[in-house]
Amino acid sequence: MSASAAWRRLEPKLAAIALRLGQLESEPDRRNSFMPYTPERESPYVDLHGERLLMMSGYSYLGLSGDERVVAAAQSAVDTYGTGAHGVRALAGSTPLHEELEAEVAKFLDRETALVFGSGYAANVGTVAALVGPGDTVFIDKYDHASIVDGCQLSGATVTRFRHNDADHLDRRLSDAAPGGVRLVIVDSVYSMDGDIAPLPELREVCDRHEALLMVDEAHAIGVIGATGRGIEEHFDFKVKVDIKVGTLSKGIPSTGGWVACTPELALFLKYNARPFLFSAALPPAQAGAALESLRILDREPERVTHIQRESARLRKIVTDAGMRTLDSETAVIPLVAGSDELAYDYATACRKAGVVGLPVVSPAVPNTLARLRIAVTARHSAEDIDVAADAFLTAARQCGLIPG
Ligand code: PMP
Repeated sequence: MSASAAWRRLEPKLAAIALRLGQLESEPDRRNSFMPYTPERESPYVDLHGERLLMMSGYSYLGLSGDERVVAAAQSAVDTYGTGAHGVRALAGSTPLHEELEAEVAKFLDRETALVFGSGYAANVGTVAALVGPGDTVFIDKYDHASIVDGCQLSGATVTRFRHNDADHLDRRLSDAAPGGVRLVIVDSVYSMDGDIAPLPELREVCDRHEALLMVDEAHAIGVIGATGRGIEEHFDFKVKVDIKVGTLSKGIPSTGGWVACTPELALFLKYNARPFLFSAALPPAQAGAALESLRILDREPERVTHIQRESARLRKIVTDAGMRTLDSETAVIPLVAGSDELAYDYATACRKAGVVGLPVVSPAVPNTLARLRIAVTARHSAEDIDVAADAFLTAARQCGLIPG
C-alpha cells in the first residue's frame, strides 16, 4: 500500500475534527483554546498578543507560580543536579531531592509514605492499573478525572460508574457487584469542572460496609480545602480517613508531577508495579525542587488557603446574587454556566473584551446544556481583582443575555 493510501485511511478522523474545531481555531476573536499567555511574575495578569488581561481560569491556586522563593529553589536544583532526570527512578533517576520531596508530601498529608510520579496523570493511571486487574471491580464517580478512567481501562478490572456524589447509588452498585476480588472506589475530592466536594463521610460508611477500599484524587483539593489546605480529610475535620490519596504537583503546588500517599507496603508494591513509575523518567530536579519549596511555604502560610476560601465565596455570592448559575460549587472552582457551547464561546469572548480571561469548557467535556466558563480564584487575586473580575463577568453575561440587562 502506498503512503498516501495509508494516510487516506486516517482522513475521516482528521476531517471530523477539522469540521468541529478548525473554523473556531481560525477565528482570532473567538478562539479561546491553546492561547499563548505570558504570565506577569507575582501577578494574576497575563499578556496575550500585547494585551494585558486578568487571568481568572488558571490552576495555580496558591498563587505561588513565579514566587521568588520557589523560582530560587528550582534554580538551585538545576545548579546541583542539572536539567534532566537522568532516567527512571529505579535506575539512575532518583536524587536526594526526590526522596526529600516524598518525605515532605507524606508528612504534609499525615501518611507514612509517598511516591512521586512524573505527573498527576501518571500517578492515577499507574496506581489504578497496578492495584486492580481482571476479577476485581472499580467503582468510579461519573465525573471522575480522565486519568482515573484511563487507569481503569488499562487495568482489565470490571468498571462500574455511579451517579455523581451519590453515596446511595454507590451502595446499590456495590450490592449488585460480584462477590469476589478487590473492590476499589475512586472519587475526586474536588471536582475540577464543578468545584463541588465529594461526600466523604457517606462514601466511607458505604465502603466499610461493602469491604471496599476508598481512593481519592486530591488534585484540586490540596492548598484549597481544609483550614490549612490539607484536602478532603481536613475539610471533614479529620473525622474520616481515606485509604489511598493521589494528587498532583501541577495546580496548587506550581510545578509538575504527581504523588500517591499511602502505607509503606502499598508504596513498595507500587514502586515495582506501577508502570508509569517504573518505565517513565523521574520528575526533573527543578520541578522536584519547586514542589518541595512550595509545600513548605504552604505549611508556613495557611493564610493563602483562607484567602482563596474567602474570596471564592465572595465571588460566588456576587455572581449568583446577580442570577448566574454556579451549580454546586463550594471551592475555588466556580463554573459560570452559559447553557450551550456557542453561548460559552460568546461569553468567553465578551469577558476577554472586558479584560478578563474566563475559559470555556464545552461538550463533550461537560454536557452542552451545562457549557460554562471555568473560573478559579487563587491566592494571587486581591479583593480588588475579584471585584474587577465580577464586574466583567456580569457585564459580559448581560451582553450575552445570560442574565437580565
Ligand atoms: N486529576 C485531576 C482531578 C485533574 O484535574 C488533573 C489535571 N487536569 C489530573 C488528575 C492530572 O494531573 P496532571 O496535570 O498533573 O497530570
